Amino acid sequence: IDVYGAPVIGEQEQWHGIVIVLHDITELKRLEQIRKDFVANVSHELRTPVTSIKGFSETLLDGAYKDPATCESFLEIIHKESNRLEMLIEDLLELSRVEQSGFKVDAHPTDMEAIIYQVREMVQKKLEDKGIELNLQLEPVIVQGDPNRLVQVMMNLLVNAMTYSPEQTVITIRLFSRGNEAIIEVEDQGIGIAKAEFSRLFERFYRVDRARSRNSGGTGLGLSIVKHLIEAHHGKVEVKSEVGKGSTFIIHLPLAS
Ligand code: ADP
Repeated sequence: IDVYGAPVIGEQEQWHGIVIVLHDITELKRLEQIRKDFVANVSHELRTPVTSIKGFSETLLDGAYKDPATCESFLEIIHKESNRLEMLIEDLLELSRVEQSGFKVDAHPTDMEAIIYQVREMVQKKLEDKGIELNLQLEPVIVQGDPNRLVQVMMNLLVNAMTYSPEQTVITIRLFSRGNEAIIEVEDQGIGIAKAEFSRLFERFYRVDRARSRNSGGTGLGLSIVKHLIEAHHGKVEVKSEVGKGSTFIIHLPLAS
């Protein structure tokens, strides 16, 4: 609490009393802390690949380039880490765009089934590589939404489902309407998430397992982008999960009227 006190003195210098102002700055402090954490996180996330790129390129320049095998493996690492940097920067820019107070999606009647088929095409190869079966249970549903943004949301959820699932498992996407809402469920048979983590999952850079997410190429920003995009559609996103059994991400979107 911020405390400010001042004496109240009349025109003839007579003593009237004291004014004390108590200002609850809990929320301000909280916001300030979130901002500081974010800057610290961004710096850390950027520094890791940069350190690696610098280290490996210096070693190459010091002479390691003369050995073709070393040269190739170092260049591969440098290439991988530059990709990581690029993804991180793209996600950061995207997050800052969707977090702006005036951010609006271009929503119009959109065939949600078609969006899901489109996303299936985009991940087909990755599904095959990992031997994951995609089971679609779709009803014809027209939502009020921005097709590009909805592809982005579905890609994020589907890539997560694949990333956090072992090989030879099944991912199920369900699409149906209930009342005046469309419901989309993305269910996997992966590692699952403990209940205690649910409330933090959608925070920027929050990861249940940092090393695992990094290795799989995640930036830790996907779910916060998803949350902002769905909220910009006046919808909501929820998670149900049990450790070791799998997770289901559930999206509610308004139907087109
Ligand atoms: P990341 O790039 O790390 O995947 P996200 O914001 O997409 O970042 O997800 C945040 C964290 O939530 C992940 O690091 C992971 O720990 C957890 N997570 C997301 N989706 C799943 C899932 N389908 N199964 C298990 N854990 C998940």
